[in-house]
Amino acid sequence: MTMSDKLSDPRLFRQHAYIDGKWTHGSGGRDEAVTNPATGEVLGHIPWLEADQVRSAVDAAEKAFSHWRALRADERCERLLAWYDLLQANREDLAILMTLEQGKPLPDSRGEVEYGASFIRWFAEEGKRTRGETIPSHIPNAALGTIKEPVGVAVLITPWNFPLAMITRKAAAAMAAGCPVVVKPASETPFSALALAELAERAGIPAGVFNVVLGEAAEISKTLCSDERVMALSFTGSTRVGRLLLEQCANTVKRVSLELGGNAPFIVGPDVDPKEAAYAAVAAKFQTVGQDCLAADRILVHESIHDEFVAHFAERMAALTVGNGMESEVDLGPLIHSQAVDKASKIVDDAISKGATLVAGDQSQAPGPNFFMPVLLTGVTPKMKVWSEETFAPVAGITAYSDDDQVIEMANDTEYGLAAYVYTHDIRRIWKLLRALEYGMVSVNSVKMTGPPIPFGGVKQSGLGREGGSSGIDEYLETKYYCLGSL
Ligand code: NAD
Repeated sequence: MTMSDKLSDPRLFRQHAYIDGKWTHGSGGRDEAVTNPATGEVLGHIPWLEADQVRSAVDAAEKAFSHWRALRADERCERLLAWYDLLQANREDLAILMTLEQGKPLPDSRGEVEYGASFIRWFAEEGKRTRGETIPSHIPNAALGTIKEPVGVAVLITPWNFPLAMITRKAAAAMAAGCPVVVKPASETPFSALALAELAERAGIPAGVFNVVLGEAAEISKTLCSDERVMALSFTGSTRVGRLLLEQCANTVKRVSLELGGNAPFIVGPDVDPKEAAYAAVAAKFQTVGQDCLAADRILVHESIHDEFVAHFAERMAALTVGNGMESEVDLGPLIHSQAVDKASKIVDDAISKGATLVAGDQSQAPGPNFFMPVLLTGVTPKMKVWSEETFAPVAGITAYSDDDQVIEMANDTEYGLAAYVYTHDIRRIWKLLRALEYGMVSVNSVKMTGPPIPFGGVKQSGLGREGGSSGIDEYLETKYYCLGSL
């Protein structure tokens, strides 16, 4: 059965780049296979574009800019809402494509389509509210103020863990602001991006406003980051690549926004129900098999409830089913590729060799080569990789602490600063932790951290800028000051 046979609308499965409203082959004749991480089956092929083809996507976007920015905000809104409606109408096909290329369970893919679409609706409306200001004048007989203008062509580079939502969270903001985009999706998961392009075309988004380029990531980014016509770069991915792109954008002084890695602490106070907190920690750790920048990587539990918490965590974790995301009743799909499995094994071995206790996690039970059974380690310390690195795997590490000052120091002991979780009902502890935690986002007694109204983003080496909320669109807007003299 081919990929197209699995979809009710086979035209959503595209195997070409999308530039200036046309489906494009690679001029160098190089194609790359895309595989299903759960089965190893080849799903299809994508072209590896040459540098001049990548530049032609910027040509197209630049050409589209004058028309797209000149539309009224409510006209851009209508087109974006048509795109939103098409995502909703094709939700099941988009979810199937996502599960096949990414591996996540089908219900999670459905959730991501819904979540990704919600950014389009949010920014479609938000585009109508980009206001300048009137400034009380200090110059006689003059009127002063600002207007907001779109920055210009934006390049969006996105990861494989959320193949659809990481694109819409950027593209909808940019497009609503009046900026055409060139998207470079992860090569592991290009088909969700291409389906978005197909639906953008059907929604009446003009040629050149939404482009998708494919190929060798390092080459593409060099071409795009050195292009003076690209005014903004928005990247979601690892801190390593984010640093590289920041450097590459320096020469042409682009607007750069970076959503990078995380290493979230999950702090459990002495006053909570250990079972409730443990179940929440399991949810925060194992979403997308731990391949999530928000994953609860360091679980810090007050010593007075540590043993009870560990018992409930282990019991809840044991109930998780690992398997092919297309099958029903599966909670955790595969990791994205075998290198991710090797990395996870090394992190577990490192922790055990440095004194951690393996409470659960028998890899002989894994249902295939790219699968990793959930692991629970206790006695985790800062000298272990499971503490210092973003594991991006279903490996949970628990550490006991004795007081609030100690746990604050532990939680901040990382180069990352994306998200932190706190479980406690003591209002004084909540306020103290909220202020002391060096993170862009802190969630108290809840594991829900995402959604269109939220200014999503990190501090320290977790990134620059915010996506979502009313600030998300600002990444794509310039403030122009004016002075009307001699009035
Ligand atoms: P990655 O950095 O390897 O890849 C991300 C994107 O960059 C992909 O499109 C990839 O093809 C491209 N890329 C890879 N090497 C490149 C290079 N040398 N030059 C230019 N582009 C290059 O990250 P990943 O493994 O796809 O995703 C996982 C990372 O993303 C994790 O660190 C995770 O925390 C982070 N992430 C962050 C957020 C957030 O909002 N903060 C959300 C999701 C994922």
